Amino acid sequence: MPLVTMREMLKEARAHRYAVGAFEFWSYDSAYAVASAAKSLNVPVILQVGPFEKDFMDGYKNAVTMAKMAADYFDLPIAIHLDHAEEYSEVVEALESGFTSVMIDASKMEFDKNVELTCKVVEKAKEYGASVEAEIGKLAGNEANISNDEDDQTDPAMAAEFVRRTGVDCLAVAIGTAHGFYVRPPKINIDRLREIAAVVEIPLVLHGGSGTPEDKVAEACKNGIAKVNICTEFIAAYGKGFNGQNTEGFKYNVNSLFREGRNAGSALAKKKMELFLSGRI
Ligand SMILES: [Zn+2]
Repeated sequence: MPLVTMREMLKEARAHRYAVGAFEFWSYDSAYAVASAAKSLNVPVILQVGPFEKDFMDGYKNAVTMAKMAADYFDLPIAIHLDHAEEYSEVVEALESGFTSVMIDASKMEFDKNVELTCKVVEKAKEYGASVEAEIGKLAGNEANISNDEDDQTDPAMAAEFVRRTGVDCLAVAIGTAHGFYVRPPKINIDRLREIAAVVEIPLVLHGGSGTPEDKVAEACKNGIAKVNICTEFIAAYGKGFNGQNTEGFKYNVNSLFREGRNAGSALAKKKMELFLSGRI
């Protein structure tokens, strides 16, 4: 199946109160782990690329090739999405390379500047028929710096205005999650999410899904979150599965060494996707 955008899959997810999983990938092997899990549940899935993965795969074109291989092999709707681009030039490079979806993250900018850059990306993405994700609000950048300050979270009225002015397909919101693993339990603001979802009809996106308490993630998926990003936890599961094989007396061959990493990654991805589907109506 050819690669698809996130547009239809996320609309469907929001309408039926579940979320599509979005996983970072860095090889055909990791794309396989994610796609095989999605296939076993018969759900669409998103493969994402950030700067580290771009570098690891030697560019966006290779990433598209690997995602296509997985979409063909599993005959599954897969979107290939650029995660957290801060530069317009990165977005253009990804679109020209065949990405079906892009995120422009201008959330550090002032509101009007964020609107302006996002509009420019939406216009460009139209030429390619690609979907666009944007962000407003401040998401804590790393595990040592968890902000529970509600002032930094996404403001519902601003979110509604932002969506109206930009025409984005989906919006990442800050409701208390952080990137990376947490050092103390996060406080996820479901009330804030409900307020945003009441005035923003498009699918909402939860970043920093790794390590976020499962009950909160499930609740978020029932309240407007239609895409959940998982990066750290997927890479960690994958790496631990691989490392676990490297024991004394171990006989190296491609299956004995590498398959366990892929299996562990796939199992983690499946567990997450089941959680995102738990409130589906
Ligand atoms: Zn993120």
